[in-house]
Amino acid sequence: MYSNAELVKDCLELFRQTEGDIVDVPEIGETVLFDEPIFGFASAGDGIFETFRRKEVIGANYFGPYEWLPEARSVVALFLPFSEAVRKSNREDKTDPSREWLYARIEGQEFIGKYMAAVKQLFEEKGFKACVPALDERFGIKIEITSKGLRPDFHADSRWSERHAAYACGLGTFGLSRGLISERGMAGRYASIIVSADFEPTPRAYTGIDDYCIKCGVCAKNCPANAISLKHGKNNIKCNKHVETMKKKYSPRYGCGKCQVGVPCEFRAPGKK
Ligand code: SF4
Ligand code: SF4
Repeated sequence: MYSNAELVKDCLELFRQTEGDIVDVPEIGETVLFDEPIFGFASAGDGIFETFRRKEVIGANYFGPYEWLPEARSVVALFLPFSEAVRKSNREDKTDPSREWLYARIEGQEFIGKYMAAVKQLFEEKGFKACVPALDERFGIKIEITSKGLRPDFHADSRWSERHAAYACGLGTFGLSRGLISERGMAGRYASIIVSADFEPTPRAYTGIDDYCIKCGVCAKNCPANAISLKHGKNNIKCNKHVETMKKKYSPRYGCGKCQVGVPCEFRAPGKK
C-alpha cells in the first residue's frame, strides 16, 4: 500500500532534487521558476474520463486512462504554480511576455518533463506500472480544419489534456480564459501520470466546469489580442496568432499569459466556497 501522503512526500522530495527549477542566466539572473506542486487524485475507473471523449469536451481522439495503461488504477494530477518572481515580472508589460515568463514556459516545461520522468521512475522502482501521457510517443493533438478554415472556437482534439485530468482529480475548475483555476490559482503548469497503484480519490469540491471563476472579465481586459470576451469566451485563433507573433520576436521561446497575471485567479481560486 502506497498512501496519498507517502506519494506526495516522495514527489516533493523529487521536486527538490530534479535540476532545472532554478535558471541562472544573465537575462534574468538567478530565478526560481515554480513553487512546490499540489496534487489531486482520481480513480482510473471514474466515469468522468469517458465524458472527455465527447466532441464538445475534448473529442474522439482522446485516450482514457486504460488506453494509456491497461493496468491503470489511478490518475495523479499536479499543478506547479509559477513563482512570485515569474508572475510579478509578467504583470509589468501589457503586451509582451516578460523574460522570466518566457523561461518559465519553455525551460520550465523542460523541467516538468524531467520531473515527471523521475516520478514515473519512482513508481516503477516500487513495482508499479506508470505512464505519463505527455511524455508518451502516442501523445499528440489533432486540429480539425474545415473547408472554411479554423473556427474561432476550433477544437484541439487532443489525446490527453492536463487541464481536464486536473479537473477530474479535484484540483480545480476552468475559467473564462480556459485555463484551470486551482486553489493556488491559474498561473502555472499542469502535469499528470497514470499508475497501477490505488490512491484515495480527491473529492471534487465543485459541480460546474467553471465554479472557481467569478466572471469578473479582468482576463478579457488584460488580453492584448482581444481574444477573450464575457459573452463568447476565448477565441483560440486570435490567441494563437498573438503567441505566434511573440514567437517570431522571442524565438526560441514564446508565450503570453497576460490572462493569467494581474487577475483575481492568478494565485487563488476566487469562486471557491
Ligand atoms: S480573470 Fe476573472 S473572468 Fe477571467 S478566468 Fe479569472 S476569475 Fe474568471
Ligand atoms: S495567452 Fe495572451 S493572447 Fe492568449 S488569451 Fe491569454 S492574454 Fe490573450
